[in-house]
Amino acid sequence: MIRVDWHGPADWDKSFESISPTEMDIYFYQSNRRGRDTCRHKCEHCFFQRVRVYEIPMSLACEITKDLAGKGYRIGLTPADSLAQDVLSSGVDGSAYRISGLGHMAWTSGAKMSAPTWKQTLEMAYGAGYRAIIMNGHGAAGTLVPFRGVSRASAVQAAVDRINCWNESNPGRPFALGITFTIRQDHTFAHLEKMVRWADRNSVKALRFNAFANFTGKPEHRQYELSIAKIEQFYGWLPRLHQELGNSQTSLSVSEDFGDAGIQQIESLLPPEYRGQQIGRCRAGWRLFAIIQLNDELVVTGCVDRWLPVMGRVYRTGSAGWDIEWDLAVIARLRQARRFLYGCWGGVGWGREIGSGFNDPEAENFLLYG
Ligand code: SF4
Repeated sequence: MIRVDWHGPADWDKSFESISPTEMDIYFYQSNRRGRDTCRHKCEHCFFQRVRVYEIPMSLACEITKDLAGKGYRIGLTPADSLAQDVLSSGVDGSAYRISGLGHMAWTSGAKMSAPTWKQTLEMAYGAGYRAIIMNGHGAAGTLVPFRGVSRASAVQAAVDRINCWNESNPGRPFALGITFTIRQDHTFAHLEKMVRWADRNSVKALRFNAFANFTGKPEHRQYELSIAKIEQFYGWLPRLHQELGNSQTSLSVSEDFGDAGIQQIESLLPPEYRGQQIGRCRAGWRLFAIIQLNDELVVTGCVDRWLPVMGRVYRTGSAGWDIEWDLAVIARLRQARRFLYGCWGGVGWGREIGSGFNDPEAENFLLYG
């Protein structure tokens, strides 16, 4: 079985008003701070840099989260690191990375696992309801990573070892381990095989592949952007990797950000409920949204990583607390524009050259200016 990201059906034929808040996922970026007391890293390609640094007071973020959850929205905080102390203590931790079947997920760089307090952190994480810990593996499998600021391979390995150590000592309270490797244009089948073998050796439950997206637009990173042919080739590699894993406890997982070019090659390996569901066509802007602070205002965006287009605003009502005022015109226009956008329109498909098979430039322009 190959796991997938899941945010509900691709039912763009419906009216947006007929979708209930209980069918929408919202990633609430209470802050876009990085480093220091969060993930302790500054990956040079991180999308958190896309807007000016802000921080909504945690008490206010909790109030907004509880009010919106009370109206049915599936919302949680999505900080740079879910294991940061202030988030763990907030009581409104999110589960932003919804890999199918893994339960409540904490996203972390793993840096907190290198502190002497790592056991207390895991105690708190378990108490907060997390049942899976997701990290980017970067170079842990022995493959080179050309980006500055990312966790060192040895640090990722040390974090994995400590989580496995916790699992051995706490058999009744284990965390499922999820490791993401970011796939680039220069990766070969042999690289992916290394990642799979490393994951198997390290008791990883879900080995997730996501696609490199050039969120910071660095010209020197263009070489790592996946072509359509590479995405098709990638999907073609997965059945072989899946077969190599045999009866291993590790299963493969694919992020929605690869889009759908060649996805039919893995369709039969998906859990039956996800077959034919247009996996690879990102639901952002329909059933998945982000809340960020932009120009001192709390706004709702479609793409949860590029943070555009603005599709609503969060406002305080009188007695009914915080709510969302949706911009139905922008939502309707994005629905139309989907015909000209690649599966991951805000990330992998963004800013590609004309005729490359990714986004139509006009539709992309709409995303910028609404
Ligand atoms: S469109 Fe945005 S939210 Fe969807 S997969 Fe791409 S980067 Fe992520």
